[in-house]
Amino acid sequence: MLRTHTCGELRITDVNKQVTLAGWVQRLRDKGSVLWIDLRDRYGITQLIFEEGKTDPALLESSRNLGREYVILVEGTVVERPAKNDKIPTGDIEIKATRITVLNAAKLPPFTIEDETDGGDELRMKYRYLDLRRNIVREKLQLRHKMAQQTRTYLDAQNFIEVETPVLIKSTPEGARDFVVPSRVHGGEFYALPQSPQTFKQLLMVSGFDRYYQIVKCFRDEDLRADRQPEFTQIDCEMSFITQEDILNTFEGLVRHLFKNVKGIDLPSVPRMFYDDAMKLYGSDKPDTRFDMKFVEITALTKGKSFPVFESADLVVGICAKGCAEYTRKQIDELTEYVKRPQIGAKGLVYLQYKSDGSLKSSVDKFYSADDLKAWADMFGAQPGDLILLMAGETDTTRKQLNELRLLVGERLGLRDKNKFSALWVIDFPLLEWNEETKRYHAMHHPFTSPKPEDIGLLDTNPGKVRANAYDMVINGTEVGGGSIRIHDAATQQLMFSHLGFSEEEARKQFGFLMEAFEYGAPPHGGIAFGFDRLCSIFGGADSIRDFIAFPKNNAGKDVMIDSPSTISQEQLNELSLSIKL
Ligand code: ASP
Repeated sequence: MLRTHTCGELRITDVNKQVTLAGWVQRLRDKGSVLWIDLRDRYGITQLIFEEGKTDPALLESSRNLGREYVILVEGTVVERPAKNDKIPTGDIEIKATRITVLNAAKLPPFTIEDETDGGDELRMKYRYLDLRRNIVREKLQLRHKMAQQTRTYLDAQNFIEVETPVLIKSTPEGARDFVVPSRVHGGEFYALPQSPQTFKQLLMVSGFDRYYQIVKCFRDEDLRADRQPEFTQIDCEMSFITQEDILNTFEGLVRHLFKNVKGIDLPSVPRMFYDDAMKLYGSDKPDTRFDMKFVEITALTKGKSFPVFESADLVVGICAKGCAEYTRKQIDELTEYVKRPQIGAKGLVYLQYKSDGSLKSSVDKFYSADDLKAWADMFGAQPGDLILLMAGETDTTRKQLNELRLLVGERLGLRDKNKFSALWVIDFPLLEWNEETKRYHAMHHPFTSPKPEDIGLLDTNPGKVRANAYDMVINGTEVGGGSIRIHDAATQQLMFSHLGFSEEEARKQFGFLMEAFEYGAPPHGGIAFGFDRLCSIFGGADSIRDFIAFPKNNAGKDVMIDSPSTISQEQLNELSLSIKL
């Protein structure tokens, strides 16, 4: 090896050792008679020192000319630093350099490669390989590596087998558009990239693999949204001869194993909540349970008092913000403006301040007596000093709007600490979801999810009420994983396809292979997939998944470093039997 040690390794106990280090010049500090260089590699930073009178003058002079990000090899002696730096592990020592070899010169980098950088987002994306030299970016990928290793350790111990499934396949319906790849050999025909390995993992169950997993790339061509990547990674799993209970226990085990072994945190056992309750109490199928602030419905108490907004509302529902009664008019106006933004679309907000002297003041005092208001406050279990915020309207819409407000108030009150973790299973999702655009029901999860047997009768009479054996894991208000118990017989699968509006012909064309497989002895099975990038970002206490991916796309779905997507030559188009008009 060219080096004897890494740049993160040497300590005071190494003083007097002759060492050779290799790395990148992070920065130079030239005081004339003394020159210091910070040398960086993946493992850390070590300071080099060159001193007039102690260092060979020619070496001192040539070292002055080293530029940022030069790749060098340095030989020298470990010495104790007179002024120690307790911010870095190697801060007690420095290297008295005796020889420098320049392994490669470097152009001046387009931004400073330090924890605090002057580079903007796009610039750093363009030079991602330089951004990855920064500790704080590299550490995120190291966390990812650890997460992947621990996932494998846990699943392997549980007898799961890692199996790779193909990438050039045909459509897997997970609710997004497919990325397609034209076939050259079969002109006019296309592969689709997997939105997930769903059908393959089910086939592996038919094959008797019993427990499968894969840390796998998935591709979904969805409309661009902040922090969404067209290709992302899942921890994809499937099990046979199990009930929903077994899946919940096995994968709660995985998440707790990860918390324990990656973060040293003992996560308590994961509570479960019915989908219907999540919607009623939090207005969301992924409630942030780091804080309470559950919804309280007071519809009945508000009727008959001529306040038009509440009179016409299906639902009057609110939250109680502890200790916020003294919010100023301006602060309340801000909250009102927030919920009135087009993205949320509420008409307004009613407030009730339970002042510390016990008096009650609301924005609807004209319509309601002090006794009415007190009855509301009691429903919330409010105390003097609390602020109640109410919204009203159509049930589902109002709940969703209040969810946004709850999250904002939670944020303002500092209740959404990134270093605190609260996990939750949301279970019993509806099987189907009405789509206003297409005017028909779509599978809420995917078409392979089994309805609860006791609800199958409702498929014809009240499809929206059919519950599925489907579950999501939520951490800190983010869905990190989801899955279901599957349909495993061809007849039920066919019934499901027909309810989803597939003709028999279409179903056979797209999924004939699966239905046929179900006729050759398919065991009962079910599974789950975790969004691996997202899980890593939550473990890393970050909002964005981007830095947990080595080479991510930007928010416009582009890789600005390699400039992709890009056009291809006419020759390639011809070969692929594609004609496009530009
Ligand atoms: N294939 C599903 C998904 O990607 C997960 C599952 O049902 O196991 O969401």
